Amino acid sequence: MKIKNLYKQLFSEKQRLVTHLFFNKMTSIFYFGKQFSCNCCGCSFRKFKPKGNGLVERENAQCPYCGSLERTRLLLFYLRNETKLFSENVKLLHFAPEWSLYPIFKKAKNIEYFAVDLNPVLADQVVDIMAIPFADNSFDFIICSMVLGFVSDEPKAIKEMLRVLKPDGMALIQTLIDLQNPHTFETTDADTPEKRLQYYTEPDGERLHGTDFAQGLQTAGFQVETIDYAAQLGDDWHQKYALGNGCRELIFQCTKG
Ligand SMILES: [Zn+2]
Repeated sequence: MKIKNLYKQLFSEKQRLVTHLFFNKMTSIFYFGKQFSCNCCGCSFRKFKPKGNGLVERENAQCPYCGSLERTRLLLFYLRNETKLFSENVKLLHFAPEWSLYPIFKKAKNIEYFAVDLNPVLADQVVDIMAIPFADNSFDFIICSMVLGFVSDEPKAIKEMLRVLKPDGMALIQTLIDLQNPHTFETTDADTPEKRLQYYTEPDGERLHGTDFAQGLQTAGFQVETIDYAAQLGDDWHQKYALGNGCRELIFQCTKG
């Protein structure tokens, strides 16, 4: 514990992040194999890394090289196969950018890319999703994965995304969903990280979405299509790319109608 604290004192958050990403790439050689593949970095492995927070553990979740997760790999398949993100000149707003997707969007010459986060270390630009500093109807695509469970005012965040999306644009949203609960759960008792973990399975969560998640998007004015793309791709792809169990991977495709 003391060594960890010293490491935090000696190195900035940015330095620690760069070191972490570099360390992952170097150690991915220990996962050498062919059983699993990652479409984000193009590498293959004998297994993916497990991922968890002490409460929920998932086997074969994280790419050892680029850090992609089940939901990330599935989203990239969807974006490449089913949308115009990579085939037309587009403007993309990406909240809490995944480091496995960031270089792909950054390199794409057709994409004018805005990678944003509240934390300046984690993105190119600081943006609060509840007060987005862009004009109405600005973006062709918005990607917002694992964000809405963590914001204090979710309806405001959704309305802001609706506002900055072009009339013919598309927002792709993912969140953690308790598939057994028809209602999104929030409680004022969740006032410590320990309780948030217990109630929401995330120590910094603000709620745990239920299967009514799409209704909240619709209430704000979005037209929503819920897409289980892993099921559409089929079992072979599901196993090879480890595309998750549906709790985090459903894609809510939102348009202005
Ligand atoms: Zn990868």
